[in-house]
Amino acid sequence: MAIPALRQNPGTYRAADVPFMDPGVHFPTFAQYWVPFPWGAVRSGITNTCNFDSFLAHLIWMHRRDPTYFAKNLNLFNSRAENAIKALVGLYWMRIPQAFAMSTRAHFIWRNMLLHDHNQQQPFLGTTRDGPGGDAVVNMAGSHRSSVFTPLSDSSLMWFVHTCYCRESADPSDRFETVLAADIGKLVSGEYDTRKSKLKCKACEVPFNSRHRPLVSPSTWFVHFPADNDDGRSGRPIFRLREIPTIIRLPELRTGREIEFELGFVAYGTTGSPRNPLTHATSIHWIDNNYFMYDGMISDGALRFLEDGKEPPASMGQPEYVMYFRK
Ligand SMILES: [Zn+2]
Repeated sequence: MAIPALRQNPGTYRAADVPFMDPGVHFPTFAQYWVPFPWGAVRSGITNTCNFDSFLAHLIWMHRRDPTYFAKNLNLFNSRAENAIKALVGLYWMRIPQAFAMSTRAHFIWRNMLLHDHNQQQPFLGTTRDGPGGDAVVNMAGSHRSSVFTPLSDSSLMWFVHTCYCRESADPSDRFETVLAADIGKLVSGEYDTRKSKLKCKACEVPFNSRHRPLVSPSTWFVHFPADNDDGRSGRPIFRLREIPTIIRLPELRTGREIEFELGFVAYGTTGSPRNPLTHATSIHWIDNNYFMYDGMISDGALRFLEDGKEPPASMGQPEYVMYFRK
């Protein structure tokens, strides 16, 4: 099975690889490590960044809370996207970073990485005019898939293992149908059926003996589950925020260790209408046993507390995917 190439000593870090952090970055609550992460407005020169803002804002928070996290958990031998993450979280070493200046730099670091992603650079080459005759501004309109999941696919792999008389095969995430958020419970309890787990091997004609819990690799530092299939026709009920487990465990290849992943955030999206075709992506972040709302267009992207027991406001639209990070 093709495990992505890992660096030496994955899972460990050298002090020299931990980015500098001002000792003043020390706060009484976890939520205070959050830095407002504004959406890319026209005057910043880069816009329509909401499809990756929730992800970047969350990574920056993780880094400030624990500056060793990415030094320890970015384990791919040579990943352009992981290198971009190191560069952009490293900008946030000040106690009070300048929110607009820093988010603009972070947006451009991410864009430059995407431009080098040769599988899919086309969507990111566009510019938009700020009104008739206005300045050109880099337009990042796209999807979570193109701006986050594709460039980081080796960092979020899961494998399902199937055996028959003639062989053992391990199918990575991109070879099986995506596991939907509504099936997270089945997945972690080992009751999840992939399509292949119901089939017979064509060669030996024996039904596959399938593992119903996937394995993760040492390079897997996050896992994500969409709310629905791309075509939006899974017929699965849309889940409620508070039904989503906050911790899941998946076994690791080779070591067999149970790896804990903690809920990071749930991404939401509005649906465009003929009158307003623009959609907007926002998120709910799980921080210190509380839910917080994030919207890069509101309060400059500061966290806003979601009251106990409440579901996100309808204005946020529908859940689009659930994101967990290795603890
Ligand atoms: Zn067989």
